[in-house]
Amino acid sequence: MSVGKTSRIPGFYKLSVEERLKIVQEFAGLTDEEVKLLLAPGGLGLDIADRMIENVIGTIQMPLAVAVNFLINGKEYLVPMAIEEPSVVAAASNAAKICRSKGGIRASTTDPIMIGQIQVVKVKDPYRARMDVLAAKEEIIEKANEQDPILVKLGGGAKDVDAKVIHTPVGPMVIVELHVDCRDAMGANAVNTMAEAVAPLIERITGGTVRLRIITNLAVKRLARAWVVVDKEAVGGEEVVDGIVEAWAFAASDPYRAATHNKGIMNGVIAVALATCNDHRALEAGAHAYAARSGHYTTLSFWEKNEDGDLVGTLEMPMAVGIVGGATKVHPVARIALKILGVKTARELAEVMAAVGLAQNLAALRALATEGIQRGHMKLHARNIAISVGATGELVDIIVQRMVEEGKIRMDRAKELLEELTRERGLQT
Ligand code: NAD
Repeated sequence: MSVGKTSRIPGFYKLSVEERLKIVQEFAGLTDEEVKLLLAPGGLGLDIADRMIENVIGTIQMPLAVAVNFLINGKEYLVPMAIEEPSVVAAASNAAKICRSKGGIRASTTDPIMIGQIQVVKVKDPYRARMDVLAAKEEIIEKANEQDPILVKLGGGAKDVDAKVIHTPVGPMVIVELHVDCRDAMGANAVNTMAEAVAPLIERITGGTVRLRIITNLAVKRLARAWVVVDKEAVGGEEVVDGIVEAWAFAASDPYRAATHNKGIMNGVIAVALATCNDHRALEAGAHAYAARSGHYTTLSFWEKNEDGDLVGTLEMPMAVGIVGGATKVHPVARIALKILGVKTARELAEVMAAVGLAQNLAALRALATEGIQRGHMKLHARNIAISVGATGELVDIIVQRMVEEGKIRMDRAKELLEELTRERGLQT
């Protein structure tokens, strides 16, 4: 099957792994070596793994899939997702299909500005110190930029300095904030290096003592936004639209629901982060802190109905991701994942990830507001249940089918069926 440059691939899920990979190879222009690496067990060699972290004793693998149907800012994307949870990729693909009804998902980003914090203690007159820091802005920026000529040459680097006084249980502190344009890097190393380098200068200016010098993951100046209008018929009619808006309103008003609402968004965001070897802890920290920035933890997305009765979804969240730096260029499979995505900049990657988060959110809300998530979820989870009780080969498929037919997708039933089938087969031989 040849699909050309569209991500709209009906029946992709029914193909074999090899058939799917052939389509992806054509779509992304993968070399035969890259395809071989994806198919080989252990795409990450021990030699590389042993240099990535400490005390290595092996590698752990995870399924890598592509979500289909994504049309973002008019461009077709096959989205690589690495995740252990069934139904996430299917849900993303399905929602992406629905999102095509009115032209796909739109997305944008701010400049890739990260903030490094420098904590100054033991300042007698902190408000005076704050003024002096702000007055010395140019000198601080210059010192920071000496640390990273590559970033500066690319148009990035330290751009601004801010300072605030906070009152803490151990007294007032001056917090100096360095705003750094990280271009195509996530930027934590770059920012931390700069924050450490300017510390002596900050001590001289403030007369205080610098303690912490570290990036914040509450990346309020590095936001990604995605929005979509979904035709009411494509989503299942006006009642479903109302159900989704009510589901969102529940989450917007109740942190217990909001946590799970946002978890659904992160299902998509983190799966792409894992596939591209981005720092998913940084993304999680940033997302939830951003959702709580008003003091009331709430949703990262908003769902409303427009005057035509169509569904409108918007999402805004910090998205500190890179296509260079960290492990992104170290892990061979992550490099291939980036090639499949075809993103040219970190901002484009962030836009795709916001769009995937929004689609993932739509899929969950639509299921929750209609039949509930368990029907689809458990059908896909049935395979895991069958495997976990010890089924292998075709027995997995038979047990899954029986459990789905009976509507009893449970471990105890899988065990019974496995025993039954094994007994029957034993008698036959
Ligand atoms: P890095 O230092 O590996 O790469 C960034 C550097 O790459 C830049 O400083 C620049 O000199 C160079 N570069 C080359 N081409 C570039 C381009 N086109 N755009 C931007 N820079 C370019 O990595 P990093 O991105 O600074 O840091 C990311 C790593 O830091 C991740 O592994 C993350 O897990 C880790 N980390 C995170 C935290 C945190 O989030 N709190 C804290 C510490 C470390």
